[in-house]
Amino acid sequence: MTEKLFLDDSYTREFEARVVKLGGREVVLDRTAFFPGGGGQPADKGSLGIGPVRADVVDVRREGGSVVHVLDMAIPGTVRDLKGALDWERRYAHMRYHTALHVLSGVIWRFFEAKVTGGQMRAERARMDFSFPGEWTAEVVCEIERLTNQALAEERPVKVYELERDEALANPDLIRTQVNLVPERVRQIRIVEIEGLDTQADGGTHVANTREVGQIEMTGHKSKGRQNKRVEFVLR
Ligand SMILES: [Zn+2]
Repeated sequence: MTEKLFLDDSYTREFEARVVKLGGREVVLDRTAFFPGGGGQPADKGSLGIGPVRADVVDVRREGGSVVHVLDMAIPGTVRDLKGALDWERRYAHMRYHTALHVLSGVIWRFFEAKVTGGQMRAERARMDFSFPGEWTAEVVCEIERLTNQALAEERPVKVYELERDEALANPDLIRTQVNLVPERVRQIRIVEIEGLDTQADGGTHVANTREVGQIEMTGHKSKGRQNKRVEFVLR
């Protein structure tokens, strides 16, 4: 089981850890700040090293309760401790885009009763798919952009906490975002709440306040079916 530092503090960008398992280019540590990917957020990149030993982390994945770091080259099997450093610029961009997606999700539900069906973020763009019940026009996309930017500018705090499963399943916002899909064995559910706007069961990393996101700019939109719509945006 790897202690996941990114769940408690998404701003941890450097850390020290013990090697639990080391084989070829793959390392498991007792703790890590590297996010292994999930929920539309890519896995982190960065480096692991000690003294003269250093390798780039090119991929990260979950394996049961462990987090496996994939390196660009093998490091000596005698290494017991490592220092990790994230590619922070890239990860921080993911945090900003991820938080923007939550705000967008809250806005389209609150003002248009549209439910999110998927989302994906990169360091320089993001997209969101949703089921949109009303008429889909360029004006509507413009209005979504305006309302999202208004909500972002309200400097809303982003809170992270845990709820008992039963309590989470009784929350209408969480039901809307399909908290019931969290595996039955998970008793404590991690919640990410943008005050007064959006509440979701979520294992990703976010910024602490919407002011860190800045503003969104829609770069594209399309209709992928009668109700299935997509918007693409960048942050500025
Ligand atoms: Zn999230």
